[in-house]
Amino acid sequence: MAYSYEELAEIRHYLHQHPELSGQEYQTTAFLREKLEDLGIRVLDSGLKTGLIAEIGEGRPVVALRADIDALPILEQTNLPYQSQNPGVMHACGHDFHQTSLLGAAALLKEKEDQLEGTIRLIFQPAEEISEGASAVLATGLLDDVEGIIGFHNIPQLKAGKLAINSGAMMAGVEKFKVSVTGVSSHAARPDLGVDTVTAVTTMVQNLQLLISRTVSPFEAAVLSITHLDVGSTWNVLPKSGYFEGTIRSFNPKVQRDLKERFISIINHLAESLGVDVDFEWGVTPPVTYNDAALTKVVWEHSQGIADVIVAEPSTAGEDFAFYQERIPGVFAFVGSNGAPDAPDLHHDHMTIDDAAFEVSVPYYVENAQALLRYFKK
Ligand SMILES: [Zn+2]
Ligand SMILES: [Zn+2]
Repeated sequence: MAYSYEELAEIRHYLHQHPELSGQEYQTTAFLREKLEDLGIRVLDSGLKTGLIAEIGEGRPVVALRADIDALPILEQTNLPYQSQNPGVMHACGHDFHQTSLLGAAALLKEKEDQLEGTIRLIFQPAEEISEGASAVLATGLLDDVEGIIGFHNIPQLKAGKLAINSGAMMAGVEKFKVSVTGVSSHAARPDLGVDTVTAVTTMVQNLQLLISRTVSPFEAAVLSITHLDVGSTWNVLPKSGYFEGTIRSFNPKVQRDLKERFISIINHLAESLGVDVDFEWGVTPPVTYNDAALTKVVWEHSQGIADVIVAEPSTAGEDFAFYQERIPGVFAFVGSNGAPDAPDLHHDHMTIDDAAFEVSVPYYVENAQALLRYFKK
């Protein structure tokens, strides 16, 4: 039996009260499993520690619907009646809303199972906030036969009732780097007897600023920020080692790959000419969330009846849905969830969701899942 929007709001409030951190979504997973089994939906044997994959319908084509389920290490300050009961942990990114939307859609699709022309796989993904969940889901192999995938994120800056989509980049590709530099320590008075790490680090930081301004097309958006450097500890000793760290972001998968390559090459060349050793550390971060043009057209068309559909402005934040899109054509949309001029942003301790947004998020999954099945059937 399908849920009413009031029932979905109640489920979301329950989940909101019981948030769990990335990779530790044990009770959340058990809760979802029970709800899905109550609905008669097959939960697949994925081997995932947390999160789960379920299935409705049969045969090809196979399309996937994805929602994330993890919360953040934030002390909630909303004072809502359903505020987090797990102090220091909060659904401040609205993943309580995402997973409840997918549960609501699952119930509706289960009712239509006889009419489905293929299989719909439901992904309740763990660990989005640490960019590890999508890779874990892909590693199960249960997405190998999936031809198209759909997901969304709530956006507090947009009013409930609005849906924003764009063909191409929706969210930035993110690289997180740390570069360690090692020279030879010496007395400040005799730099000639050492290899100066301070000069090496600052020269690298300066030269890297040429990367965006001199190698990226003026028609592309990209940013490189070096946010932290640490070298030396006193006035009269040239230190042996130091490091700097920061991030590179862009909206074009090729630009992002090229930037990383040139970044490494600039540093290696400088290291060679300055006589220092370098070591690179790259964080686990998502590539560009890049919507498939053909599927975006299908989703755009089939969302008209359910929402006020607008063209999305890409976000400089990253999203691990991008890992699916490297392997499977997909569409990621933004669902309006507040819209007040002073609405607190995602990851804010006052962030709230307008439950009216279910009226877009649930049919977004239901209508577009069926539209994609028909699209791939041809
Ligand atoms: Zn988040
Ligand atoms: Zn999120």
